[in-house]
Parts: sequence; structure tokens; C-alpha cells
Amino acid sequence: MALKLYNTLTRVEEEFKPLSAVVGLYTCGPTVYNYQHVGNYRTYIFEDLLKRTLKLLGFSVRHVMNITDVGHLVSDADEGEDKMEVGSAREGKTAWDIAKTYTEAFLEDGVRLRLEPPDVLCKATDHVPEQIELVRRLEAKGFIYRTGDGLYFDTARFPDYGKLAGGSQRLAGLQAGARVEANPEKRNPSDFAVWKFSPKGKKRHMEWDSPWGRGFPGWHIECSAMAMKYLGESFDIHCGGIDHVPIHHTNEIAQSEGATGKPFVRYWLHGEFLLMNTAKMAKSKGGFITLRHLMEKGFDPLDYRYHCLTAHYRKQLDFSWEALESSKTARRRLRELALAFKKEPAKPACADDETAFRRALEDDLNVPGALASVWEGLRRQDIPAGAKAALLRMAEDLFRLGLFDEAEQALDGELERLLHEREQARRSKDFSRSDELRRELERRGLLVEDTAQGQRWRRK
Ligand code: AMP
Ligand code: ZN
Repeated sequence: MALKLYNTLTRVEEEFKPLSAVVGLYTCGPTVYNYQHVGNYRTYIFEDLLKRTLKLLGFSVRHVMNITDVGHLVSDADEGEDKMEVGSAREGKTAWDIAKTYTEAFLEDGVRLRLEPPDVLCKATDHVPEQIELVRRLEAKGFIYRTGDGLYFDTARFPDYGKLAGGSQRLAGLQAGARVEANPEKRNPSDFAVWKFSPKGKKRHMEWDSPWGRGFPGWHIECSAMAMKYLGESFDIHCGGIDHVPIHHTNEIAQSEGATGKPFVRYWLHGEFLLMNTAKMAKSKGGFITLRHLMEKGFDPLDYRYHCLTAHYRKQLDFSWEALESSKTARRRLRELALAFKKEPAKPACADDETAFRRALEDDLNVPGALASVWEGLRRQDIPAGAKAALLRMAEDLFRLGLFDEAEQALDGELERLLHEREQARRSKDFSRSDELRRELERRGLLVEDTAQGQRWRRK
């Protein structure tokens, strides 16, 4: 069987055939004005599982993720303040400091959740010239007009506008554009900013000169500019959460295809929401849950990773502490089995189980199905414990649930030495040295955290 993926653009499951030997994958990254919540991480976990599945099935992957550190306004329809400035006012720091703090927090959470780092992690603020260049291309083709507060893309000039959202969703997207009291100079409600001018008389923390005046890039343009820079003008897969369909990804398509005249992305994949009290978990609503909250309540981040495996990525998932507790128990049980079977003489995994596991993944990334096939294999009476250990190894390669961690606790002498040195550095309050050693240990696969009882470590 071949890999089939549901393509939001065509609204059917399609056989996945990449353009070239290396699959180009772009995933929209965080807006770094606050901690990411576990809803955001549901999407990143889905993307991580997609990437690992592609690799398991023999594809090579080049993965690019952006960091939105400028230009994402409070309303997706280009109105209101820049979220970075909101973070800055909230914490009394510059927008640059806010970006740094929350980018680091995001990367730390990524390690805790075993998200494989992208091949390219690119910041919008490091790519302003590329974004200006793209706007110039669009301007030369007549897609851009100027208003008092910035440059806008004229969606009426792009005949396929809204093709990603299609039907009723398209309407919802257009209404979203119209919902906010928009700039009255906009020609169409769905037109969106590609460059915004700095407000008169106000100095922004983040602003740049451009051929049109001092200001900052619109949010959507960053993803088009960076995706094309690192993956080419047409590439294979673009992912994000489902909320990006009617506006952000719709606008990425319009400006990319407007500029190049070529199809931008071949397969669009979108992860469904994590819900809280039946509504989308969202930062703007407050009361959202971060990974830190989970850890404070005694959950391992990998319990949450397990929890995300229990629902198909195109189905909504409710967040509740009880459900998370069940996932924690299930992961602990799986670990106990992994550690118990590990001592048995190795046998290859049973062919049927291996096939069921792969088949499920090939069926539009049916991760819950693959997980169920692992549990079924483990319950079978007719296969030896060594084969069960092999089955768990295979699952662990994809799922990364830390199943075998306890068995790998012994440290080599060099790591022991570095840990000891770090402890000494902390005792003598040499924090820059202890941070340096933390990074060094992390490079070597150990995560170190400081607790009231001293430093603690675990494997990545
Ligand atoms: P943001 O930091 O708001 O740009 O969002 C980062 C990623 O998380 C995007 O791909 C969003 O679509 C996704 N996302 C936002 N809220 C949720 C949610 N409640 N459940 C799943 N994914 C989400
Ligand atoms: Zn994006």
C-alpha cells in the first residue's frame, strides 16, 4: 500500500507522490508573544508524527518551520495591535526580549515533547529583505495597492482566491475578514496587508525601512517568503492548524501564486483543534494550559504526547485532566511492558503486527490505529516476549514515548563529569558557566533541570 494523505485543497485522500527525492515540508511555527499552549502542541505533535512517518516509509524530508516574531496582529484580518507589542506591554520588556524569551520556551518544550527539530528554523525578523522583495514582485504584477496604513493585496485580482477553503468555509473566511471594522480604504473585505506602516508619532520596537515607508511586514508574507526561499517556489507539503485554512494559508497561496504563477504547495494538511470546555483552546481567550501547568500537576510531557496519539489528527480532541490521567496510566503500562520484555532474547517483530502498524500510518496517518495495533500485538498469546519487545521498539521509533528510558539510565564517565562540573558551577553561582554546561549536556542528549533538591537530568 502507498501513503495516502487527506489534502485540504482537493478535499480527498490522495496518494502521496513527492516532487523530488527530498520531500519539502513547511509547518507554520509559533507566534512568540507568550507560551504556546497544549493546543498548539497538538498541532506540532501531529506534524512531528507526519515527518517521522514519512521517514519510516523511506522518504527523505527537508523540514522548515518559521518563528513569527513580528507582524501577527491581534485580529487575523490585519487589524489591532501586533501581538508582539501586546506581549511587550504586558511584561514591560521590548518586543525583541519577548520574542527571545518565548522562542527559548518553545524550544525547551519541543525537547520535552521530543519534537524533532526542523532542518531550518527561520525567524520573520531575519527575513525582512526577502519579504520586501516578494512584495515588490507582487507590486510589479499589479496585485498591490496602497492605503493610509499600509500596502494591501487585492484579492479580486487573484481569480482562485479562497480555493483552499472552498464552499461554506470560503464564506466563513471572507466574513472573518469583514467582521472586524476594517480599514475603510480596503477594496475588498478579504484583502490583506503585506506591509504595514509604523503608526505616525509612535516608535515601534520592531520596524524597518522599505521602498514604501518605514514599517513592518504583514503576517502572511513571512511564510510565503521563507517557504519559497528554503523549499523553492513549488513544494510538497504545508501544514498547520485548521484555523489557518480560511485566512493565513488562503493568503499565503494568493501571494505566492500571484508572484510566481506556479502552484505553491501540492498537499495541504491541517490538524484539528484541541478543545477546552467545547471551544478551541486559545491564547487570546486566557485560561489556556501550557506544558508547564501539566508538569506542575505531575504529568510528564510525554503523557501528553501519548494523549495526542489517541485521536486522529483530523478529529477534534477534548482536553480534560481525567482523560490525560488515563493516557498517563496507559503510557506507564506500555513502559512497564517495554522494560519487562526488553530482558527477553530478541526476536523479530511479528510480520502481521508490523504490517498492521504500517498500514494504519499509510491510511492518512491513522496514528490511533497504529497505536491500537501495538496494544493488540502485545495482548497476543502466540508470540514470544522477544517479538513483543521488537514491536515496542518499532512503535518507540515512531511515537517517541520514552518507553525504554529507564533501562538507559547508566551514564558514561564524561557525562558524569559534566554534570558534576555543572553542579559545582551552580553552587558557586557561576550561572553563565552552568548554562553553558546545560547546553553542552543537551547537545549530548541529557536534559538538565534545576529543582529545590538540586539538578535533575533525563535523556532527551
Ligand atoms: P500560533 O502561535 O497562534 O501562530 O499557533 C501555532 C499553531 O498552533 C498553528 O498551527 C495553529 O493553527 C495551531 N493551533 C492554535 N490553536 C490550536 C488548538 N486549540 N488546537 C490545535 N492547534 C492549534
Ligand atoms: Zn504560516
